[in-house]
Amino acid sequence: MDQQLSYLGVPLTRPKVAFFDFTSCEGCQLQILNNEATLLDFLNLVEIVNFREGMSEKSDNYDIAFIEGSISRPDEIKRLEAIRHNAKIVVALGSCACFGGVNQLKNRFNDLNWVKKEVYGDFPIETIEVHPLEKYVQVDLKIYGCPIKKEEVEKIVTNLVVGKSITSPEYPVCMECKANENICLFELGEPCLGPVTRAGCDAWCTNNRRGCWGCRGPADVANVRQLEEIMHKYGFSNETMLDRLECFGGFASLTKEIKKTKKPAAKRKK
Ligand code: SF4
Ligand code: SF4
Ligand code: SF4
Repeated sequence: MDQQLSYLGVPLTRPKVAFFDFTSCEGCQLQILNNEATLLDFLNLVEIVNFREGMSEKSDNYDIAFIEGSISRPDEIKRLEAIRHNAKIVVALGSCACFGGVNQLKNRFNDLNWVKKEVYGDFPIETIEVHPLEKYVQVDLKIYGCPIKKEEVEKIVTNLVVGKSITSPEYPVCMECKANENICLFELGEPCLGPVTRAGCDAWCTNNRRGCWGCRGPADVANVRQLEEIMHKYGFSNETMLDRLECFGGFASLTKEIKKTKKPAAKRKK
């Protein structure tokens, strides 16, 4: 893995990268390992020095730290700070790391002691409210999705290595969904967060006839009020909409206003 590569005699720099996980299902890391068709090319691009899910060797000497998972225990904060200290670039990998992900649903409960008792019974561990990485450390880059899309990670890593700028689509999932010539799921009786969710997944769910749940968080100009109009037009309640908007934590700053006004749902369109 530490073989020196060159192009036309010029040595290519391979950044040392490390993968870490906090509170998560490890599905995002698995996406990297699952990428069999291009895994070897990916490994040529970087030097992986720490990746618990894929190798036994460990090193604290790395340039880029890819961090999966949200922070839900006090001891995780210290470990996260140490990783931040070691890395030149910290990349939040997936919805848990970017927004808290599905783990942050725990914060909906007012009494966390009750949650602890329900989950751990007589063997409690110390847990805290769930938060994304940037609550505790500076995050340089976010890779969205639950799970991340491996093709997107490869593109971002390639751009990092060759020094190109990295951007995420500003437009919503609807753009990709329409480009893929899907029938809108609202017309088929299913709610969807495509109008307000950041694109980049190539409309993964709606291509497969599943409504979007907003795992990539809000598009740059997400108009949640307009989404509310669409939901009502097709007969879906604010509860249905909020259920989806709150699932991954990405829309937290946009849902407060919606929660204040509870409008009744219109009659479902036939
Ligand atoms: S973002 Fe989703 S797939 Fe990735 S670690 Fe969190 S729960 Fe798992
Ligand atoms: S199915 Fe969802 S993403 Fe596709 S056009 Fe309809 S609202 Fe947009
Ligand atoms: S369609 Fe929505 S929920 Fe599905 S992967 Fe894309 S952003 Fe995530």
